[in-house]
Amino acid sequence: MESLLIYLFLFILGSAIGSFLNVVIYRVPLRKSIISPPSSCPNCNTRIKPWHNIPILSWIILGGKCANCKEPISKRYPIIEFLTGVLAVAIYYKLKSIDIFFVINFATFATLLALAVIDLDYKAVPDSLNLLALTLAFFSSPNIIENIKNALLMIGIVSLVRFYLSYLLKKEALGEGDIIVAGTMGALLGVKLSLVALFIASLIAIFPSIYIRIKNKDLELPFIPFLAIATFIVWYFDDFFTNLWRAIYG
Ligand SMILES: [Zn+2]
Repeated sequence: MESLLIYLFLFILGSAIGSFLNVVIYRVPLRKSIISPPSSCPNCNTRIKPWHNIPILSWIILGGKCANCKEPISKRYPIIEFLTGVLAVAIYYKLKSIDIFFVINFATFATLLALAVIDLDYKAVPDSLNLLALTLAFFSSPNIIENIKNALLMIGIVSLVRFYLSYLLKKEALGEGDIIVAGTMGALLGVKLSLVALFIASLIAIFPSIYIRIKNKDLELPFIPFLAIATFIVWYFDDFFTNLWRAIYG
């Protein structure tokens, strides 16, 4: 019962932070302040009242429309709030304690979530958020020097792959944003599991990239959403993937 209350509390707290992530996702790429002014409807500019700003619930109660002008509000807002709530619960379930490392890991993955959505929108991500995720990841576990070392190794590995790919494909392969994310992965997962995560990210990305090839040749596929999903999967199931690595490579 007590633990159920903790999960409920973390879900509510997480979804409230998800509501803030929505602001970050909308404003940071436009170089607007994330603190002021308070949120308003993009259509009629009416300030969103606090009781219309309850994560997930307000969107459902208002039927996905602005309370004033009835302009539809994207499903994306409650989805991101829900995902951030689930993220808080999942990270607590994994770490089994609420301490500084819970806070840092949650903050890192929440920032990766924001980066993934911004990459979907713009096919590029702001360095401010990307470097924030990397810096947070340095402190995601007690061995900070090891985390920084792993981040640097992953940045080196992915930069080298980028040089080769760009040369072989005769065009710019992988973005600079992807390299910083690779550093974040290194700090969170270590080198071996980061390579596993890169492999899984590429594997998941194959299906939409084939779909895009068939549908529309000009569309560019953002890679950070796949990196973020794979990083979380491998971080969460790290024991499974460590054992898998040992079974294959000894
Ligand atoms: Zn409105």
